[in-house]
Amino acid sequence: MKSARKTETYTATQNACNLCAPLGAALVFKGIANSVPLLHGSQGCSTYIRRYMISHFKEPMDIACSNFGEKTAIFGGGANIKLALDNIRRQYHPDLVGIATTCLSETIGDDVPMFIKAYRDANPDEDLPALVHVATPSYQGTHMQGFHGAVRALVETLAEATSRNERPAVNLFPGMVSPADLRHLKTILADFDLAGNLVPDYSDTLNGPLWTEYHRIPPGGTPVAALRATGGAAASIECGLVLADEPKTAGTWLQERFDVPLHRLGLPIGIGQSDRLFQVLSKISGKPVPEKYTARRGRLLDALVDGHKHLNGVKVALFGEEDLVAGLAGFCGEVGLVPVLCATGGGKGRFAQAVHKVVPERYHDQMQVMEDVDFVTIEKALEAIDVDLLIGHSKGFTMSRRLQRPLIRVGFPVHDRVDGSRLLHVGYRGAQQLFDRIANTVIEEKQKKNAVGYTYY
Ligand code: SF4
Repeated sequence: MKSARKTETYTATQNACNLCAPLGAALVFKGIANSVPLLHGSQGCSTYIRRYMISHFKEPMDIACSNFGEKTAIFGGGANIKLALDNIRRQYHPDLVGIATTCLSETIGDDVPMFIKAYRDANPDEDLPALVHVATPSYQGTHMQGFHGAVRALVETLAEATSRNERPAVNLFPGMVSPADLRHLKTILADFDLAGNLVPDYSDTLNGPLWTEYHRIPPGGTPVAALRATGGAAASIECGLVLADEPKTAGTWLQERFDVPLHRLGLPIGIGQSDRLFQVLSKISGKPVPEKYTARRGRLLDALVDGHKHLNGVKVALFGEEDLVAGLAGFCGEVGLVPVLCATGGGKGRFAQAVHKVVPERYHDQMQVMEDVDFVTIEKALEAIDVDLLIGHSKGFTMSRRLQRPLIRVGFPVHDRVDGSRLLHVGYRGAQQLFDRIANTVIEEKQKKNAVGYTYY
């Protein structure tokens, strides 16, 4: 297996295969009930992030901004953040304001924790919302560092050693998955009769039903009370094979501070990683895996046997967020697909190892693993290898067009299809849907290219 970071001729990132750090943080804060994300920095950053997220989720996307101008860039943004917090409280009456920094405020070195303390000190008699800050300099990390940093900041700021109710509660940190994935994970927790502190939960806030009246803040999300209860949970589960090697996460903090046992798993994509999730939930709850999931797993195995002839040996290229790609690589290995290229714009030096761990050894010498790379580098690598189809997000569409290979859309962002929020990746049901989509695409390609036009395959 070859692994690489940047090309020898690398000059600067062109068409990045990652997004900016405050975007990941804003997504997390959108998954907290009655919460408003506030970007401390320039307006363009929040506009870009809003536009990007609207295009994927197709929902209203209020993200406040402290609106830096030229003077702020010189004298600092203390006054701006105070004004922003006053405005947000007056207009939204939130339970929580999640404050993420942009490159500009990080570059000038604004001391946001001090600004928050000064704001609290100036309003001693007010019932203030929870104020949670995460540093998100985009020149140091991707949207995934922003995402996981915001999750950690939420529990560090709010967790208490109290339990929310009688049922054993589990903290589930699912990583950056789709609203459909979050809904599915909540159902699984409920089927084990576990009270779940799911952080974040944007399954309703970013994929809600049609409204009959406008809501300034969409209903749904992880309640602040659930964030406080994370310190008293029976266990934490953190999903992500690359994240599993990160020393400072929400789960490790709760383990150190409140002795909450931590289970670190991959994203539950495919059979092996889903099995691990079900085993851990069974252990925490003291209950066997519910029959409906055993039956679903059995049906999935049957489908894999039926469709194996279509996928065995098909060469795929995977790209996108590091933990999603690692999860998909494991899934590919399970169903006979050869992941000849696994690429991510992030990775932090741990990606190759994570992929290596889940893909069967027999494929390793056919694989190329690239981290911290952009789309120019990925496309160049793909021109040199034989690949049948691409699996990744919409930013890979132009590449798939030039290479004339079909693109199966997964993850974020999905800008050029209507179902980004409804894509299911996790659990046996997610694996079934992925398998069906991939197998049908392979069959469709064969039909298109075949002169005879077979209707049976
Ligand atoms: S300047 Fe930094 S924070 Fe703002 S959009 Fe660009 S990368 Fe993101």
